[in-house]
Amino acid sequence: MPALKVGLQKLVDQLRALQKCFMSMEEPVNMNNSEDADSDLSTHRNRSRSSFDEGSLYISCTRPHSLVDPGKPYSSHSPVIKTGWLDKTPPKGTLIFQKRWVTLDAEFLRYYQNEKEVFSKRFIAVSTIADVLSVGEQKFEVVTKNRTFLFRAENSAVRGEWVAVLKETIQQLCSNGKTRSPSLSDAGGDSRGEKQGYLEMNGSRSKLFIVVSADRVFLYLNSEDRSQGIGITSIDMNMGSVKSTDPRAFSLNTCYKPFSFVAETTQQRDEWVEAMQACIGRSLSSDTVVWSVWVEESNRRCADCGAEDPDWASVNLCVVICKCCAGVHRSLGQSVSKVRSLRMDEKVWTDSLVQVFVQLGNDRSNLFWASNVPPSETIRPSSNNEERQNFIKTKYCQRKYRQYHRLFGCQEDLNKALCKSVQTGDLLETMSLVFCGADVNCSTGDPDVPNPLCIAQNYGRKLLEEFLFHNLNTEFPGVQDVERVIPQVAVPIPHAGILFKIGSTTRAVTERKGKGDFSQRWCTLDKGVFKYFDGEKRAHPCGEIKMSDVQCLVVNPLGKHGYLHTFELYQISGRIHLFGADTPDSVQQWIETIAKAIVPPEAEGMASWSFERVGRLRYTEGPNPHCPRACWVAAGGSTLLVLLHGTDRPESIDLRKLQELCVQPEPGPVVLVDRGRTLRLEGDRRADFPGWANSLQQGAGRGDGPLDQQQLTGTDVPVIVDRCLGFITQYGLKSEGIYRKAGVQSKVTALLSSLCLDARRVQLTEGEHKVDDVANTVKRFLRSVREGVFDGEQASLPWLRTVALSETSRRISQYQTLLASLPPVHQATLGAVINHLYCVQCFAEENKMDAHSLSIVFGPTLFQADGTDKSAGQVVEDLVQHYQAIFDVDAEHVKRQIEMISHIITAKEDRPDEETRTICGIYLEVKEEGSELLVQVSQKTTATDVVSEVLRRRNISSQPEDYWSCFLVNDKDDMERPLHYQEQVLPVCFSLDKDCHLVIKKNDYMKTILTCTDGWVNVTRNGHVQFCEEKGQRAKGSFSKRYCVVTATSLEIYKTPKSNHPEKDCHLQALKVYCGIRKKLQPPSSWGMTVVWTQDQHEMHRWYLCCESDQELTDWLATFFFLQHHGDLWPGTS
Ligand SMILES: [Zn+2]
Repeated sequence: MPALKVGLQKLVDQLRALQKCFMSMEEPVNMNNSEDADSDLSTHRNRSRSSFDEGSLYISCTRPHSLVDPGKPYSSHSPVIKTGWLDKTPPKGTLIFQKRWVTLDAEFLRYYQNEKEVFSKRFIAVSTIADVLSVGEQKFEVVTKNRTFLFRAENSAVRGEWVAVLKETIQQLCSNGKTRSPSLSDAGGDSRGEKQGYLEMNGSRSKLFIVVSADRVFLYLNSEDRSQGIGITSIDMNMGSVKSTDPRAFSLNTCYKPFSFVAETTQQRDEWVEAMQACIGRSLSSDTVVWSVWVEESNRRCADCGAEDPDWASVNLCVVICKCCAGVHRSLGQSVSKVRSLRMDEKVWTDSLVQVFVQLGNDRSNLFWASNVPPSETIRPSSNNEERQNFIKTKYCQRKYRQYHRLFGCQEDLNKALCKSVQTGDLLETMSLVFCGADVNCSTGDPDVPNPLCIAQNYGRKLLEEFLFHNLNTEFPGVQDVERVIPQVAVPIPHAGILFKIGSTTRAVTERKGKGDFSQRWCTLDKGVFKYFDGEKRAHPCGEIKMSDVQCLVVNPLGKHGYLHTFELYQISGRIHLFGADTPDSVQQWIETIAKAIVPPEAEGMASWSFERVGRLRYTEGPNPHCPRACWVAAGGSTLLVLLHGTDRPESIDLRKLQELCVQPEPGPVVLVDRGRTLRLEGDRRADFPGWANSLQQGAGRGDGPLDQQQLTGTDVPVIVDRCLGFITQYGLKSEGIYRKAGVQSKVTALLSSLCLDARRVQLTEGEHKVDDVANTVKRFLRSVREGVFDGEQASLPWLRTVALSETSRRISQYQTLLASLPPVHQATLGAVINHLYCVQCFAEENKMDAHSLSIVFGPTLFQADGTDKSAGQVVEDLVQHYQAIFDVDAEHVKRQIEMISHIITAKEDRPDEETRTICGIYLEVKEEGSELLVQVSQKTTATDVVSEVLRRRNISSQPEDYWSCFLVNDKDDMERPLHYQEQVLPVCFSLDKDCHLVIKKNDYMKTILTCTDGWVNVTRNGHVQFCEEKGQRAKGSFSKRYCVVTATSLEIYKTPKSNHPEKDCHLQALKVYCGIRKKLQPPSSWGMTVVWTQDQHEMHRWYLCCESDQELTDWLATFFFLQHHGDLWPGTS
């Protein structure tokens, strides 16, 4: 990067060489005593030389294109506020206005021959302007103490702008009450190194009043002009040089033009030369950098805390910062922020780098870095160090407040876009790309221009070259996240009308607001801005809300506040607005219109849906939990619509059917498991998030609602019903008097309430729950659930009347009609209950409950009646007896179901009960003759028990580092599994077949696993493995690369790390992990493991995972082992 390392000094040298060329050309200053002063309405005619009668001087010199941004006069030391073409009053005696390029900065109003000129024809110090007046025909007067300058604008709008901006600038200068720049010295401030006096300027033969100021030389016609603040031009002395040329003359060479002056005496000449050299020295000192960077007004306030006149900068992050903030930036390390002084680190400040800072400026940089800073988190110059540190770390390490690039998250697209933006030279876009993840070192695929930096060089994009150079090694520690994606909103629809509003707050409105708290507002929504006015005719709104700043729209339940219909808007900036009205139509229209204005076009469907809340959230899913993305979400009832990143339409999630919903305490996420996929929605302590969590919990189903608001299974049956019926099917079909016998009331009550709270969390187990308690629990649920199974008392009457029909076939067809008219969840629930009763009565021989006995119990239960009406029982008996016909169930299907149930029951009966013991052959070290010991195993026997029994009998003293363990070894499949020390051995004994046996041996894995898991807390692991699957007995395909993710709860296998949905997803606890892979499968390496997943007791899956090294295998095994046993791996080590 030699080109970029060119320091200021080198540049100066080059320019000086250039000047020598200029000098040798001996180009005289073209002094053109033209035109305009006469018409200044000036009475001032006291010129020292007649050739300057006209009062202005034309020093022809246009600036080279590459050096300065056009439109920004080089000579301006303070920010340019306004530029443009204006007509200057015609010179005396003519009528033709002269077009002039006019610029205004905080110090001077200047005009130039044209926009390319370096030297102004005239400048007027802002401090001397007394007033600015609009006069006729788009003209305006700039009035100073002694003179009035007349300008004419193209139209009255432009004139208005100039007048307004001039007045404001004067005002600001007055209110500042101080001069901010040394150059203002010439308007009467700083007088460092000043020298003034008349000098003859070569080529003009006329004397000018010259003022050598701090870092510039000002040219005036005479001293009087100087005192009035009206001059010709100023010469920037940076990159200048002074040389004596003869006893009285000397030349001032600037990078643009040489000037020759003649003094009265040699002594005077020497004084002038000395003064000018000192001036050049000052301007070459690092002040130049400060002032050059401050040319951009926003660079005069610290990008982080707003402190004035910051003289430090982060050269890679492109922000100008104060000394205090610079200290914090330093502490982040060079790889995050390269801190340089604007005064002391001269070498780094190449002209390109200065231009990068001038072009971007703190305002534009902060458009990116601080697009979304909550007011509560902003810092001030007076903020303490801790606040400062937090803010700066959050801003630049976590990059929490940044503006997200639309390609965020798509590495390839980001890189491509970077290459493109470097070509086009778009600095802000490049910055946004780089700090949103585009790789500065990415490969372009083109050997001639292999990376973005080369592209910049190739296309001559000096500024980008500079920017990229400083970011070649920039790193961003900390969590990446997505706070905000500015959406392209759906077509904005203008809308207006009356709403009632409460003054905005920063906390969610929890208390009821009466009508008196609201004020009537005339509201409009147009072009993405919502405004509210005191009245319809008012010109100025009381306030406005940008729709892009709305992160959540909440529709309150009817009557939550004094107005029947109310809704709330949550702004990203933290404000919350509550609106209301009594007219449902108008409120509904507003809600829909606002929703349309905030969601992206892909989510427009959400806006017209009857949501309770809609807004954006951040989420993570699948294998990359550290990179949250933005999504759009709408919630209503039990439905959640989600528009995930990169998808083109919202998908619908039935919250009732979630496998899991976990609302963690703030600031934790809400975790949803839907159809095997895990979605984590993050709250970030936002005010609207508790509402989301609550809405999701309500939608996910609670036991106190009607059937269709319960947690549901995939077949629309409430989980409560499904769990209980399943338990009875497994354990209660042969229990005499099942459903007739009473359970223990307190247990039934407790079980029902825990099921109602969260049915999915309740595991019914044989040891813990008694069949009669469970039977009575489901009965009580069905009897008390709101609206019942028949969807209300009214709807249940036709069912009861049906029994009066004498013909069976007519009754069946009537039941079919009624069934079809039930809502889906009711239909499914009734079907599940009747199917269950049908199965129960199939085992009537054992349980003594035939269809009639069951219907006596279930008639009043299902109809929620007291039992006096016998028809309820008759309906149930009909339904059970004609189950197949009424529910249109295939006879074969029913037969298979009953067979399966019988099979399960028999299998259970054959299995040992709690008292069972068995004798199991266990081998010591290897399976061979003589190594087998017969050990008695009961249900309570753990692996540790077996190990110590065997070692004791063989007289082996166990050393701690031996980690003697019990292994389940499968010789045929070349795999083995060390039993956890607390694992029960009995089930393992019963599972043994001819290929498997138990072996007690030293556990070589344990030592490495214990070493590697030392200090682990919340571990997850992901990475590539070679994967092969086996279902049943046949291996499917061969090994291929997959991305494997193990979390605290699950194992997920993805095709690639970028895949949205896992190919495999199962609960970690349902897995058995073996070391080794069947050799017949020809695994690609010898470091493999076999994962056995038993699904629904019947289906067994085997997954083979192969690693690239022994260490990798150990890591995976350790992760599985650690998570499955919650870190308790070996006695006394957890
Ligand atoms: Zn600061």
